[in-house]
Amino acid sequence: MGVTVRELSFDYGGAEVLQGVTFDVPGGEFSIILGKNGSGKSTLLKLIAGILPYRQGHIFVDGYDLKRLSVSEKARLVGYLPQFHAPVFPFTVEDVVLTGRASFVFAVPGRRDREKAREAIERVGISHLLHRPYTELSGGERQLVMIARVLAQEPNVVLLDEPLSHLDLSNQVRLLSLIRQLVSSGLTVLAVLHEPNIAFLHGDAFVLLKDGKIRTLGRGERPWDSATLQDLYDVAVETLPFRDRALVVPI
Ligand code: ADP
Repeated sequence: MGVTVRELSFDYGGAEVLQGVTFDVPGGEFSIILGKNGSGKSTLLKLIAGILPYRQGHIFVDGYDLKRLSVSEKARLVGYLPQFHAPVFPFTVEDVVLTGRASFVFAVPGRRDREKAREAIERVGISHLLHRPYTELSGGERQLVMIARVLAQEPNVVLLDEPLSHLDLSNQVRLLSLIRQLVSSGLTVLAVLHEPNIAFLHGDAFVLLKDGKIRTLGRGERPWDSATLQDLYDVAVETLPFRDRALVVPI
């Protein structure tokens, strides 16, 4: 299960942003996409989320061909936290999280939908914000609300685009441990992270993206090798062995 991407190419009308991208996201693991700004990470997540249409290549989510799924079937399989989410109306936190139940709701949200929304709000640790207008929250609080919204959706696969941005240290740690709980309960999580040290400490598998292509590893090469990171980010780094991986130090 998990996500299978095969020979996926994409452009926004100009040059190709993704070129023949092929990789697997193992089910029930925490996989992390690493790569420079502009390498195509957000585009890749949007394609897997089913938000951008693609003509070339294939995406399978838990074995289902994404192209053959309806909008509500996709919503039950894949939850997506975008990098940017501009609030428009001053809905309460509870109502914003309830919109995560949209694919289950026919007319008005029922008791079960409200329960699921409350559960997600508790899991993320923002019960104290329940009745606050979303528009009045800080960037970090909004980020947590959007994460609760994805969880209320109860998808099999969770896609997170820079979920740690805006979060203070305690909320970063809380979210990383929540991700660990989600994968332990069988969910597949695929995230874009900018901080390689957090990625290598917490990730199970890594997808390296360079100029819209998958950067495959050579024999014996590991994602946290300094030469690999220098090649991926075009910058000098040193790495220090840490646990069974490494800490990355920009120099
Ligand atoms: P990353 O997430 O790795 O920073 P993106 O997927 O956001 O990369 O962007 C990859 C490339 O696609 C960049 O060159 C960016 O300018 C371009 N791009 C992203 N979104 C759009 C868009 N909506 N229209 C046109 N070009 C875009």
